[in-house]
Amino acid sequence: MRLILMGPPGAGKGTQSAAVCDRYGIPAISTGDIFRANVSARTPLGVTAQTYMDAGEYVPDEITNAMVRDRLGQPDCARGFLLDGYPRTLEQVKELDEILADLDVRLDGVLALDVDSDSLVKRLLDRAEREGRADDTEEVIRRRQEVYAEQTAPLVSEYDARCSLVRVDGNGRVDHVTDRVHTAIAQLRR
Ligand code: AMP
Repeated sequence: MRLILMGPPGAGKGTQSAAVCDRYGIPAISTGDIFRANVSARTPLGVTAQTYMDAGEYVPDEITNAMVRDRLGQPDCARGFLLDGYPRTLEQVKELDEILADLDVRLDGVLALDVDSDSLVKRLLDRAEREGRADDTEEVIRRRQEVYAEQTAPLVSEYDARCSLVRVDGNGRVDHVTDRVHTAIAQLRR
């Protein structure tokens, strides 16, 4: 099973990704988590990524693409994976096409989580308080929403036009959203 999970910051991608990966026994590849791990470990990649993350901007494509190419080539991805937070730009879509072609595999589909914009900022502010994520100040949260709308939202129509994309209502209780996500995956596999 090879999936992309899309959705704006705060849509619940991390939570839903964990539920899907658990059920299908595939690794969740979250570029945000990989960047955060590198920031915590103060690796050269983390030092570079942090300036972008702290501003709510995207890390440059060449850095992100190289990291994902390396990750998807690892043995645990051979049976499948779920990409959470990648691709986020049209350049990354092109690179992912090439990575998949090089690995001789195909995507099963794309899930797009839809959440009302008012709920997104509220969820992120709550999470910032709970988890103390440095990239979650109110100003940065708003900038991240803008960057998503400008650079990533167009990818939903791109994937809609070219492969199976299912929109999932991400509002409401987490377990209800998870049920809808599983139903959407069943739809993709038909
Ligand atoms: P996330 O946890 O997925 O919202 O990602 C947190 C931050 O990591 C983003 O705001 C970006 O700065 C960076 N990031 C994560 N994924 C990507 C990506 N695919 N392209 C560029 N930057 C990314």
